[in-house]
Amino acid sequence: MRALVKTAPRAGLELIDVPIPEPGPTEVLVKVRMTGICGTDLHIEAWDPWAAATMTTPRIVGHEFCGDVVAVGSAVTDVAVGDFVSGEGHLVCGRCRNCLAGRRHLCANTRGIGVQVDGCFAEYLVMPAVNIWVHRVPVSPEVAAIFDPFGNAVHTALAFPCLGEDVLVTGAGPIGIMAAMVVRHAGARFVVVSDLSEERLALAEKLGATVAIDPRHTPIADAARELGMREGFDIGLEMSGAPVALRQLVDAMAHGGRIAMLGLPADETSLDFSKVVLRMLTLKGIYGREIFETWYAMSVLVQSGLDVSGVITHRFDHTEHEEAFATARSGHCGKIVMSWE
Ligand code: NAD
Ligand code: ZN
Repeated sequence: MRALVKTAPRAGLELIDVPIPEPGPTEVLVKVRMTGICGTDLHIEAWDPWAAATMTTPRIVGHEFCGDVVAVGSAVTDVAVGDFVSGEGHLVCGRCRNCLAGRRHLCANTRGIGVQVDGCFAEYLVMPAVNIWVHRVPVSPEVAAIFDPFGNAVHTALAFPCLGEDVLVTGAGPIGIMAAMVVRHAGARFVVVSDLSEERLALAEKLGATVAIDPRHTPIADAARELGMREGFDIGLEMSGAPVALRQLVDAMAHGGRIAMLGLPADETSLDFSKVVLRMLTLKGIYGREIFETWYAMSVLVQSGLDVSGVITHRFDHTEHEEAFATARSGHCGKIVMSWE
C-alpha cells in the first residue's frame, strides 16, 4: 500500500510502498478514505526539536482519518466489516488509576498514532477496536475525517456550560473556529473571536462568530462594549497558544469567569496571576478528547444540525501531499483534507 512516511530523522516525508498491516485479535483493519492535516504533522514534517525528541523513524504519520472497516480480529465483537469509522488516535495504557476509573483522556501513558505508533496517512490503518468510533449518525467523509480536531473543539467548548453566556475565543485556526460554532450551537449569546489573520477572521465571521476582530486594531474591550456587554466575558477559550492572547483573554473576563485552554504555548509564558486570584477566575487545561464522551457529543451535535464542513477550505489527493502541507504551513487556509481513495 501507499503510505506517507517519515523515513529518516530529517525534514520531509516520502510517499512509499509498505506492507498492508495485519490486525491482531483485538484490532481492526481500516481502508482509509480521507485524512486531515494537523499542526502536529507540520512539526513532524519539518523535524523540529519537538519531533526529534518525541518520535523515532521510520514512522507512518497522520492521526485524523475516516474510512471503512475491511477486516476485524477474532476477538472483536462490536465493530464489523463495512462499518464507516473514525478513530481516537490516543492509545491509552488501560492499567493506570485514571484508565481503570474510566477517565481514559487523563492516562499519563498515552501513545499517539502517527507519532509513537504508525498513523493514518496510508491506504490502510490497523487500530485497536476500542479506539474505533463507528459513525451511526450520518456524516460526510470530510467531516468524519476531522473528528479528531472537531473533538478538541468540542472538548474545550463544552468544558463549561455556555447557554446564554458571552464567550471569547482567542485564535481562529480550524479548532478555534469550530469551537466558536459549537458554543453558538449550544446557546451562547455573543461569541467574539480574535486572530491576527484577515482571512481567518473573515472565515470565523462567515461561520457564526458574532464578531471577529484583530486585537491590534480593535481592542477586545471595545468590541464587547459595542455589543452592549457590561461586565466582561463569562467564558474564554484559548485556541492560539499565543502568550499575548492569553493575557488579553484574562483581561477581558468577567469576575468569576471560566477559561479553557487548548492552545499550546511554545515557551514558558508569563501572566499576572493576581488578576486570576482577585477576579476568581477558573483556568482549565484541555488535552485531546474525552474517550468517548466527546465523541458522543460530536455525533449528537452533527445529528442536531451542526455542520462544521465550512471550516474545510482545501481538498487534495494524497499524491499532492507536498502542496497540501505547504498550504497548511502558509496559514492561508482553514482545515485541509487529503483523499486516499
Ligand atoms: P492554528 O495554528 O491553525 O491556529 C492558531 C491561530 O491563532 C492562528 O490562526 C493564529 O493566527 C492565531 N493567533 C496567533 N497569535 C494570536 C494572537 N495574539 N491573538 C489571537 N490569535 C492569534 O492551530 P489549530 O490547529 O487551530 O489549534 C489551535 C491551538 O491548539 C494550537 O496552539 C495547537 O497547538 C493547540 N492544540 C492543542 C491540542 C490539545 O490537545 N491541547 C490539540 C490540538 C491542537
Ligand atoms: Zn492509563
